[in-house]
Amino acid sequence: MRLVLLGPPGAGKGTQARMLRDLAGIPQISSGDLLRAAVHERSRLGVEAAKYMDRGELVPDDLVLNLIDERLGASDAKKGFILDGFPRSVAQAEALTAMLLKRSGKGIDLVIALSVPDEEIVRRVSGRRTCTQCGAMYNLVSEPPQRVGVCDKCGGELYQREDDSEATVRNRLNVYNATTRPLLEYYGARKLLAQIDGMGRPGEVDSRIIAALDGLLSKSERAKASRGRDN
Ligand code: AMP
Repeated sequence: MRLVLLGPPGAGKGTQARMLRDLAGIPQISSGDLLRAAVHERSRLGVEAAKYMDRGELVPDDLVLNLIDERLGASDAKKGFILDGFPRSVAQAEALTAMLLKRSGKGIDLVIALSVPDEEIVRRVSGRRTCTQCGAMYNLVSEPPQRVGVCDKCGGELYQREDDSEATVRNRLNVYNATTRPLLEYYGARKLLAQIDGMGRPGEVDSRIIAALDGLLSKSERAKASRGRDN
């Protein structure tokens, strides 16, 4: 199963990508995570990428495409993958098709586009906090830690990603609307698009996605998904 998760920052792509990863046993490939790892390592690519990420701008394609191509070539991606945050423009979508055709002769199976209103995005993203020690994620609005600024799991200090501040989130939304949103039409025209409402109680969005995956899931994966919903 080769999937793309599309949607503005804070739409829940990461959460849903992890749900699908656990369900189907295929890797979640997040361009944002790959870039943040490069920034953390202070590689040449990371230092260059950070200049764009801090402002909420897209990192230039020549930096992103190599990272993704390399990751798609790893052995765990042979069975399938869930792309989270890539592609983010029509040019990246065309580059992705070319990469996949070269590697396996097969394109993507489905693009799942999560939609969430802009004001809800700003509320969700500016409330995000991450543990400096164990990486656990919190949300001051929907999933606050028990003690302000402290991780419930390991006692580590919580921090806000630099690009999650309200001003940068608004810029990331503008970038999404101008550059990434056209992908809805692009994939719609190719009959690869499933548009999913990203609002609702926990589990509701999961169920909508599972329904959209329909024939792409095996019998055992469908059974596992419905057991998950019953629990
Ligand atoms: P994310 O974690 O997906 O919200 O990405 C965080 C930041 O990484 C974005 O605001 C961009 O600066 C950069 N980024 C992530 N994915 C891409 C991509 N596919 N193309 C260009 N820049 C990206």
